[in-house]
Amino acid sequence: MVYSSSVVLDSRSSVWKGIWHAEAPVTCRSLAWRACRDELPVRSLLVQSGLVDNALCPICGRLPETVTHALLLCDDAKLVWFASPLGLRVESLRGVSTLSQWIDQYCVDTLDDEAMGVVCATMWALWHRRNAWVFHSKGMDCMQVLAKASSMFVVVPDGPDAWVLPSSPYVKVNFAAAVKDNVGTAMGMIFRDSFGTTRASGTNFLEDECFEPQIAEALCYKWALEQSGDLGFSEIIFETDCQKLYIQWNQLKQGKASDDSYLHSLLEECIMMIQGTGSSLRLVRPTANKVAQCLADVAFDYGEKVWMGVVPEEVSSHLQSDMANAKLP
Ligand SMILES: [Zn+2]
Repeated sequence: MVYSSSVVLDSRSSVWKGIWHAEAPVTCRSLAWRACRDELPVRSLLVQSGLVDNALCPICGRLPETVTHALLLCDDAKLVWFASPLGLRVESLRGVSTLSQWIDQYCVDTLDDEAMGVVCATMWALWHRRNAWVFHSKGMDCMQVLAKASSMFVVVPDGPDAWVLPSSPYVKVNFAAAVKDNVGTAMGMIFRDSFGTTRASGTNFLEDECFEPQIAEALCYKWALEQSGDLGFSEIIFETDCQKLYIQWNQLKQGKASDDSYLHSLLEECIMMIQGTGSSLRLVRPTANKVAQCLADVAFDYGEKVWMGVVPEEVSSHLQSDMANAKLP
C-alpha cells in the first residue's frame, strides 16, 4: 500500500469526525472518507494488481497516481484548491505526505463543518473529473470542477412534498414559468399568508419571447418581486422549484463569480431588489409548487393579470389540495 501515516483512521479519529460532521452530501463525505483510507482505485494501486500497466496520473501524466496525488498534490488539483472558496495554497503545506494527514493537521482543527463540507465536495469533484477523463475522455477545467463541487450543495429538500405554510409575518410567494416554442413565455405567482389565505395571484405572458427555462424562471422571479412591491409586501419567502435558478442565485448572493450572461444580470437585479427587505428565496419540490405551475399554464390564455384575494377558477383545485396537505413550518 502507498498509504503510510501515523494517523489511525477509525470512527474515533478526528479525521472521521471532521469528514462525517462536514456539511456536504453523503456522496461527498463517503468519497472523502474512502480517499483518506486510500481506498480509491488509483493507478498506483491498480498497477500492483496488474489491472493497468501504467501508474502515471491520467491528468498530468508526470507522477504516479496515488490518492494523495490525485486529490491534493497534482498540479491540476492544486489549481482547484487555490481557486476554491477555501483559497488553499497546497504548496505551503509543510510535511504533508498523505491526504489523511492533511485533513488531520490542516483541516479538522481550523475549518468549521461548513468549510469541511467544501473540502469533501472539492475532493469528490476532483475524483469525478479524473473519472470523466479516464472513462469518457471528457476534460474538465478548474472552474468546471469547482462548479461540479458547488452543485453538490443544492439538494432538493428531502422534507415535505407538500406546500408549507409560512410563519407569521411572512407571506409566501410561489412562482413558476412555462415556455412554449414559437408561442412565448408564461408566468404564474401566488401570495399566501401564514393562515394559508390567498392574498393575491397573478399571471403574465411574454408573447413570442421564448427563453431558456432558467431565464424564464429568473424573469418570473423578477416580475414576482416587482408585483410584491406594488402589492405592499416586504417580508416574503419566495419559492421556486427550478434548481438551476436557485444554484445561480445562491452563488451570486455569496459574492461568487458573476459573468455578463443575461441570467446573472437578471439575478443580480433580483438580489438588489430584496436587499434590506427580509425576503429570501427557497428551493422546493415541484409538488410543493403546483399552484404556481398551474398559474403559469393558464397564463398563456390570461396574459398579464392580477387577482386580489383569489385565484382563477382553473387553479382552485390545486389550491384546495395544497391547503388539505399543507404542513406547518
Ligand atoms: Zn497528476
